[in-house]
Amino acid sequence: MRKSNKRLQRLILVCVIALVILIGLIIAITMISKPTSGTGTGPNPTETESELSTEEILAQLKAQLIVDADHLATTYDYDGAIALIQTWEGYTEDTELTAKIAEYEATKATCVRVNMEDLTHIFYHSLVVDPERCFNPDDYQGRGNYEWMTTISEFNKITQEMYDRGYVIVGLHDLYRYETDENGNQIMVENDIYLPEGKKAFVLSFDDLSYYHSYDNYGYAARLLVDENGKVINEYIDADGNVHYGAYDYVPLLDQFIAEHPDASYHGAKGTVALTGYNGVLGYRTDESYSFDNIDNPDINKDKRLWLKNHPEFTLEAERAAAKEVADAMKENGWTFASHTWGHLSVGKKSLASLKTDNEKWQKNVAPIVGETNVIIFAHGTDLGNWPKYNLSDEKVEYFMSQGFDVFCNVDSNLHRTYFGGTYLRQGRRNLDGIRFWYNLSGEQNNLSDLFDINEIIDPLRPDYTLFLD
Ligand SMILES: [Zn+2]
Repeated sequence: MRKSNKRLQRLILVCVIALVILIGLIIAITMISKPTSGTGTGPNPTETESELSTEEILAQLKAQLIVDADHLATTYDYDGAIALIQTWEGYTEDTELTAKIAEYEATKATCVRVNMEDLTHIFYHSLVVDPERCFNPDDYQGRGNYEWMTTISEFNKITQEMYDRGYVIVGLHDLYRYETDENGNQIMVENDIYLPEGKKAFVLSFDDLSYYHSYDNYGYAARLLVDENGKVINEYIDADGNVHYGAYDYVPLLDQFIAEHPDASYHGAKGTVALTGYNGVLGYRTDESYSFDNIDNPDINKDKRLWLKNHPEFTLEAERAAAKEVADAMKENGWTFASHTWGHLSVGKKSLASLKTDNEKWQKNVAPIVGETNVIIFAHGTDLGNWPKYNLSDEKVEYFMSQGFDVFCNVDSNLHRTYFGGTYLRQGRRNLDGIRFWYNLSGEQNNLSDLFDINEIIDPLRPDYTLFLD
């Protein structure tokens, strides 16, 4: 809701600026035409021309207003579309504009409220660009890549197929709103999301967008950056060491898909990205542990020390500024961020003291780049308690809630799992990755067919799963 309000405010601001320019133009045109109109007695051609061009300007502004309002309506933001039309002075007298409002209201009236019980939540990791380098049954990372990862081709096919089946991305933040109960306490309640009949809402999240050192040379993108047009793109280094810029991971791929299919997303929502901090974020080495003071410190991971040795030009400030530029552009474009714990910890197994230290590192090193968040997506699929209710006096639950977290996500294979706990929200997520694919290909599980046919989407470059069985 906050996101779409922000977008609406921006559109209204653009309209106000356009109106100010228009008024300025009218004044300028009037002043230019005045001396001419004072000298003649007959009809004045300059005056007629200037009247026409004012009308033209007005017509252009109105046409743009309708394009913008139509775009909002395409993203199911009918209230936003109506509010935008209503910024036009005298809209009630304009039949074209009142017809537009009637059209949005009529479509809105046919929409159906999303049942949170039916909502599915899927997630991915960074996408594999080069399957040949990525999947290797003979080494730990290569096996892990096969189990946990999805290729670009698989992601694109799933995205298209889910769109064709009527799935619409809704933001995690669109699921709830805050209200004050009769005792004056803030509570979290189910939000009202309306979609046209036949459309199915789903939530999308992505884990570990850091481009860890462990991904190096396995055929993943290297980092994200903002191009000269303000678009978020990837840097990718191929097997021969050539550097490419473009869409090599889900951020630019999904941005592109939704630009082409705006009705794939409710109010322009994209996904929630869960970030650790230990190797930095978004492909930038933004953590304070990246310091030349640590270059020979045996307590610091050797990947970091090697990276520092290979990057004598490194400064923490420059890395953080570049990462923040990417994060800001992503937020502007419908993406949101969550904590994944700084150190990719299993919250169920770790002590309260270590979770506190870890969260402090996240708040110090990650939050200044991506902003504060109330969402935590647990690493390793662990959780703070059994389903569905948390024990609110559990010290870990108490701690995370005291730190402002009230949306908690884990990993499970249930098709739908959402629980509103009064002051918090829990949601289970489905991994769309190699391990899930192979369980479905082998017939051991059947828990993907509501989304797509596994045989249609599996990447032919993915080696046979039997090679990866123990
Ligand atoms: Zn993770």
